[in-house]
Amino acid sequence: MPFTANRQFKKSPRMFVAAKDMHYTTSDGRQVLDGTAGLWCVNAGHARPKIVEAIASQAAELDYAPAFQMGHPKAFELANRIVDIAPKGLDHVLFTNSGSESVETALKVALAYHRVKGDGSRFRLIGRERGYHGVNFGGISVGGIVTNRKMFGSLLTGVDHMPHTHNLTKNAFSKGLPEHGVDLADELERIVTLHDASTIAAVIVEPVAGSTGVLIPPAGYLKRLREITKKHGILLIFDEVITGFGRLGTPFGADYFGVTPDIMVTAKGLTNGVIPMGAVLVSAEIHDAFMQGPEHVIEFFHGYTYSGNPIASAAGLATLETYKDEGLLTRGAELAPVWQDALHSLKGEPHVIDIRNIGLVGAIELEPIAGSPTKRAFSAFLKCFEDGYLIRTTGDIIAMSPPLIVSEAQIGELIDGVRTALRSID
Ligand code: PLP
Repeated sequence: MPFTANRQFKKSPRMFVAAKDMHYTTSDGRQVLDGTAGLWCVNAGHARPKIVEAIASQAAELDYAPAFQMGHPKAFELANRIVDIAPKGLDHVLFTNSGSESVETALKVALAYHRVKGDGSRFRLIGRERGYHGVNFGGISVGGIVTNRKMFGSLLTGVDHMPHTHNLTKNAFSKGLPEHGVDLADELERIVTLHDASTIAAVIVEPVAGSTGVLIPPAGYLKRLREITKKHGILLIFDEVITGFGRLGTPFGADYFGVTPDIMVTAKGLTNGVIPMGAVLVSAEIHDAFMQGPEHVIEFFHGYTYSGNPIASAAGLATLETYKDEGLLTRGAELAPVWQDALHSLKGEPHVIDIRNIGLVGAIELEPIAGSPTKRAFSAFLKCFEDGYLIRTTGDIIAMSPPLIVSEAQIGELIDGVRTALRSID
């Protein structure tokens, strides 16, 4: 099983057999409140009628069309709808089937872009410690997760990392953006000085690091990264697999922070998590740089059998319609104060060493059990599940991100579920 404690799971399996709106149903007939939007992806809640209907009718009408040298209208329509809600300036779309594939695609676009412009000496990719960019080789190379380095050895060469921005000493219990640490963006200048700008193709960051524990950037940090990358002709890639599609209370993280990258990586919420799909958005300048040479020649030597798959495209269109009909891409902003107050009411509960929040994302960091890291948070996860709440843990951090249809009462319920768990675990 993926990212699972296999032996523990097989001893006492946790199985979902159905889902509707904010709840899962377990195999033993219990209702579980979804505090994590599945895996940060079911932004409109479960089994939404428009999406269900779109998938069924698309399967009957056009199940598959080759993605190479052929097209079908829904993929183009979806690309246009994505561009409609994307930050201004990002107006071309490449489809993929996951966040990991979107990351690889974005890194390849960045490298190839400099080459087609005759600037092939720009081969370096800069990521960040504690970055998570999926599980493929490019993504784990620019990512900054120690287990990947320990387990998989040989990664891409020509990669360097900025420091992460998490600082409990200075920023514990921040509400919204942490106050301290904007200067960490200047580490990029140090890296540029070390390698020279002429060797650096791109910098990739998550606007808010999700999977490594909700690490919220210090105020001003992303703006500064934008200034430095622009100054040196380095492409800035935002990995918005989590922050995209309303999670922060704005359509994208780029909107929240007022910073537009050159390339934006998305997946998850694009189809409400229902059908695997990702999309990489690029600026016209990047797109146009490829559109040269003989017209019968493939301009960007990349793609997947399932790129822009018709059923995924139909699911994406129905998802974006659902978001629009219900105002979900901005609903997180309305709920954010309630979410913030509820989360921070856990301050002082056992084991809690930090609470942080942004939009409809929140994290509760626990003091690890000495000698048994991750065990305490895992116990909280098990207790919550037993009591009817789905939370997610990473390390000793509880990370939560409910569907954007969550009610204020359900926020209260979820946080009380966590409170009970914290009081009952060792
Ligand atoms: N990038 C980020 C920021 C993510 O959070 C994730 C998944 O959580 C990925 C990439 C990988 O996405 P996937 O699991 O769809 O490959």
